[in-house]
Amino acid sequence: MVFSYYHRLDARRRRLYEASDAVLDLPLTRPEELRRRTRQLESSLASGRQAAVARDAQALTDAVCQDFRVPSVRVEVLERRPARAGSELHGLYEYSPPGQASARRRILVWMYTARLGKVVAFRTFLRTLIHEVCHHLDVTLLRFPESLHTEGFYARESALVRRLLGEEESPPAGRTARARPSAPPRKD
Ligand SMILES: [Zn+2]
Repeated sequence: MVFSYYHRLDARRRRLYEASDAVLDLPLTRPEELRRRTRQLESSLASGRQAAVARDAQALTDAVCQDFRVPSVRVEVLERRPARAGSELHGLYEYSPPGQASARRRILVWMYTARLGKVVAFRTFLRTLIHEVCHHLDVTLLRFPESLHTEGFYARESALVRRLLGEEESPPAGRTARARPSAPPRKD
């Protein structure tokens, strides 16, 4: 099962897609430490204080990267999410195209909803942050030249989020149905 945009990819990117799709999980070595940092982020988001959220989102991201022994990435927590046609942008991962010597990487996440200006629900915020961290792991840990949204990508994201929340782990076969992206989003 592949997302529909697979059929529009050239041979090189189909191989990349298949490589991404084949990795379903990235186990952590120190889940307890990461859970502690996750709970810390939850309480800072509940406080609504942007500086505290930024500090703890960065600390969690640093700890995840350290667990996987890859360089960390700068996280910027912004206030109101920009509204896009029909949907809200939740987060962004910016990275240089392959071949550029100086890799400039950055994650942007928003802590307030675009429409109502309320603090984003913690689970949504965590999932958004980890989604972007998974893009970072694609290019650093898995060394993919480009990070694609594949079922494998979403499986890795879900497994990591569940582990950070200390939730019961479902078997690796637990791929869940998701909305099918019609095009490969590049930067969200
Ligand atoms: Zn994405």
